Amino acid sequence: MAGKVILVGAGPGDPGLLTLKGKAALENADAVLYDRLAGDGILSLIPKGTKKINVGKRSGEHPVPQEEINRLLLDYALDGKTVVRLKGGDCFVFGRGGEELELLYKNNVEFEVIPGVTSAAAVPAYAGIPVTHRGASSSLHIVTARTGGGDAEIDFAKYAGIGGTLVFLMGAALLGYIARGLTEAGMDRYTPCAVIENGSTPRQRKTLGTLMDIEEKAGKVQSPAVIVVGAVCELSEKFDWFSRLPLYGKTIAVTRHEENSSGLAGRLRAAGANVIECPCIHTESLVNARLAKKLRAEIPEYDIAVFTSASGVSAVMDGLYGAGADARVFGKTRIAVIGGATAAALRRYGLRADIMPDRYSGRALGKALAGAAERGGRILMLRAEDASRELNGLLDASGIEYKETAVYRTIPECELNMTGLINGGRIDYVTFTSCSTVRGFMQFHKNADLRSFTAVCIGDATAAEAERCGMSCITAFSASVESMVNTLIGDRLFEAK
Ligand code: SAH
Repeated sequence: MAGKVILVGAGPGDPGLLTLKGKAALENADAVLYDRLAGDGILSLIPKGTKKINVGKRSGEHPVPQEEINRLLLDYALDGKTVVRLKGGDCFVFGRGGEELELLYKNNVEFEVIPGVTSAAAVPAYAGIPVTHRGASSSLHIVTARTGGGDAEIDFAKYAGIGGTLVFLMGAALLGYIARGLTEAGMDRYTPCAVIENGSTPRQRKTLGTLMDIEEKAGKVQSPAVIVVGAVCELSEKFDWFSRLPLYGKTIAVTRHEENSSGLAGRLRAAGANVIECPCIHTESLVNARLAKKLRAEIPEYDIAVFTSASGVSAVMDGLYGAGADARVFGKTRIAVIGGATAAALRRYGLRADIMPDRYSGRALGKALAGAAERGGRILMLRAEDASRELNGLLDASGIEYKETAVYRTIPECELNMTGLINGGRIDYVTFTSCSTVRGFMQFHKNADLRSFTAVCIGDATAAEAERCGMSCITAFSASVESMVNTLIGDRLFEAK
């Protein structure tokens, strides 16, 4: 059976601007053909096993000619595959989406179009420019600075007197030509203008001016850039919200898996950062049927069970469940956790943490345990195979007896090697939420220049590990994801001073 082609608009660069329907299409595709304009953040949403083909074009240099792209789409579809053609912005706004559909139509291949957020509206919006505004502009004209042949040939006479907002796409190299052309065709030379390069990304650069001085003010304009002409540009002074976000312009790598947007990556994005997800470890449960059976018998003999991570909780609870048991195994056993995330993991299994230190740290947990154990009680620690020894040291020093059972292990992994990005100075911060993430990172980034970024560590033990490897670190005030974000914002404010 023949496959299908889905044109998907990726939006202008911020991965959050991909539509839900577009995301679902990426997740279900057999192959994805993408452009230079589809940002890294969106490419990382494509599942590992999916074939990815870069057909990106640079102006003047066409790695894959359009005819060949059309042909590739057809061939994949005829081969029974579901192919996504991912395009920057919207598929049909100067996206050649229609051209790609022609051949499919001729060959009776099924297709679908998932529109995207066009840069013509979104990039001005990220610079605080509403493309229409009551009293300032009542129409919007999106103009290509390039015509079919590649040479600029803009009918300035038509646009100079049109009123409303003009948005020029593909005009990065033609700013002076456009400004002069409009002025010569009779437009007021004091008409406000804006040039926005790399809009909606951490490299966004905005220049405001008038037709008369915009070329001089902007200097060399980098592609991709949107040029906006019209009274609405003046609103940017008031409405530029993006560059005011606290982590705007910073690229931050997150080295652990994120399950939801309330995690570290989501919080950093909400603060305006460009986040690269590069998990450096994954965890594997060690609670097989044998260990589950043993835990089931053993846990009730202990007065306190200790969890120091959400991974430990799921390994134990899923293991017990698989062995026909459940939360009732903990009946009289009190449960101690290191912090809120571990407590939240317990709650998902219907269990409440009895002991949680005010401060998230091995030291604070050690103290809390020492207090609890004084009143008598046997302690069972359910932790990672390679857990830090800090807690053991503290308990040993207080003469508290405990048993330790490894319930999961962390395995270094690396889906995305960031060495190139790091050495190119493209990463400002790398976050580490455990010693194991530092070790995983080091294993895969042996040739990375560790001085070109700052490590942001969740706590002292993690920072010690990162420093030992040669990184310069900042450490969260109190070991939590919220605190890591606040520490980063603080560092940014400090740097800005
Ligand atoms: N289909 C796309 C436009 C493709 S033409 C859309 O709907 O947005 C390519 C042009 O889009 C670029 O030359 C530039 O003018 C504009 N563009 C796309 N992404 C941009 C970005 N992040 N910042 C500024 N301009 C962008």
